Amino acid sequence: MFKTISESGSARYGRLKTQHGTIETPFFMPVATKMGLKLLNSQDLKDIGIKAVISNALILYLNPGLEFLKKAKGIHNFVNYNGIIFTDSGGFQMISDNLLVSINEEAVRFRSPFNRQIHKITPEKDIRIQNELNSDVAMCLDYMPRFENNYESIKESIKITFEWAKRCKASHENKKQLLFCINQGGTYKELREKSASLLSSLDFDGYAIGGLGIGEGHDLLKRTVDMAVKKMPKYRPKYLMGIGTLNDIIESIGRGIDIFDSCYATRHARHEMAFTYKGEIRLGKVKYEEDFNPIDKNCRCFTCKHYTKAYIHYLIKINELSWKRLMTLHNVYFINNLLKEARTAIKEDNFKSFKNNFLKDYNVKKTSLQ
Ligand SMILES: [Zn+2]
Repeated sequence: MFKTISESGSARYGRLKTQHGTIETPFFMPVATKMGLKLLNSQDLKDIGIKAVISNALILYLNPGLEFLKKAKGIHNFVNYNGIIFTDSGGFQMISDNLLVSINEEAVRFRSPFNRQIHKITPEKDIRIQNELNSDVAMCLDYMPRFENNYESIKESIKITFEWAKRCKASHENKKQLLFCINQGGTYKELREKSASLLSSLDFDGYAIGGLGIGEGHDLLKRTVDMAVKKMPKYRPKYLMGIGTLNDIIESIGRGIDIFDSCYATRHARHEMAFTYKGEIRLGKVKYEEDFNPIDKNCRCFTCKHYTKAYIHYLIKINELSWKRLMTLHNVYFINNLLKEARTAIKEDNFKSFKNNFLKDYNVKKTSLQ
């Protein structure tokens, strides 16, 4: 399913095969939690060249529900998207949104955000939901500790995550669907390594790193990625969940990561922030009032081909909402294109200098941690 074709240092260029096509790695997925991508549609994704998105299995299970999606002939058909759909198991959302009722070795119980009913989700049930949704890649149910949790509780969470991963694998019946596990362990070296070693013994189709991008900062993120990747099987795809900023993505590719997802690009677009090769810029600022250049002169997106910073600034000032769509189109194109450039650099065994050149020009101070 996954083949590494060329390597440049620890960065790799490869191909991941799924039931909805083959995708070149490393790649970036926009987040479509409810299978609706804010301000974009499936034709936009096609035009931009986005070949994969990530949705949330538990959210889809709660609304619109499995029966409804069956009537709609599946999620791909319902949303008219023929690309690759990953489904996150949903544990993350249930815990992070304060919807958690209880959690123990057997199951997680949470309150539905839609009707306040309490649901009990076992690893087996979560996999059944993802099997029925027939996403291309399913994720194991994991227990994500909060960043501020202490060592002992994070230690407990990697134990539960491992037990759940075993049960997810045992109950995974949809053979057309790939199954990825999720590494946890906070930022503790011993726990990240232990979690990665335990999960590696189970031979999953892919290995994700979860629980990061929640305030640990760029340096600790890099160190934690190194800890986990080193203990994972080398020639399996590695997926860094929820990251985010362009500099973190480029740094992580250099550490052997193949897959990324984040709502950073789209969320920041809706907060007037646009990616450029020099860092992020806020187009609502008065300095762009008479700037008749595109957002980035090297960007070939729809927005940069047709509109200037001054026009988008003007749309923001007159409160015409189309600026949000124009900026979302730009940010998603920009990040997708950056990954394409990274793949080319790896193929040419030139990744290190590509990375250094990008980071030299990219003003990290302008980007916020996520
Ligand atoms: Zn652009």
